[in-house]
Parts: sequence; C-alpha cells; structure tokens
Amino acid sequence: MEHEGDKDKMKSLGVIRKVDELGRVVLPVETRKRLGLEPKDPVEIFVERDRIVLKKYEPVCIFCGSTGDAVIWKDKRVCKRCVEQMKRGADKTNNED
Ligand SMILES: [Zn+2]
Repeated sequence: MEHEGDKDKMKSLGVIRKVDELGRVVLPVETRKRLGLEPKDPVEIFVERDRIVLKKYEPVCIFCGSTGDAVIWKDKRVCKRCVEQMKRGADKTNNED
C-alpha cells in the first residue's frame, strides 16, 4: 500500500525529553524555529491514539480559512469579514428569526 503525502510523514528528531513534575516538556529549539513558535505563542494539543500532537495554534475561519481577526461564534471561529457577509446574507435571504 502506498501512502500519499510522504512529505507530511511523521519524522523522529531523535530527541528524547522527559516530562517534568508539572507535565512540561521542552520543545527543541530547532522545532520551535521551524514552526515559528515564539515564547508565549499558543499551541493546540491533539491526541491521536498513543500520540500527542502539538500544532501552532492559528485561529482559522471555518468559512474562508483565513487566519485574520477571527471571533468565536457558537464554538466556531469566524473571521469578521465572514460575519459581515453572514449578517448581510441573513438580512436579505434568511429572515427566519
Ligand atoms: Zn472568513
């Protein structure tokens, strides 16, 4: 079986780190550089079976995918532009409320 997206394959850095008493792990500096992670940057944590995946947290609009000024609306991230579009669309087509 061939898998697509080999470039996205998980790659071991050969780095072993220990979790400290508070559950903290230091991310290797080269990894932080590669992802552009600066101190205080938020990271999103995923669990995948027995894996913990850290992803640089970037709020993304669920509609257009932009990372611009997103707001949380009903637990979803929506950028202000899409909010505006929704408002206008709702006024014109969807007066259910
Ligand atoms: Zn949007």
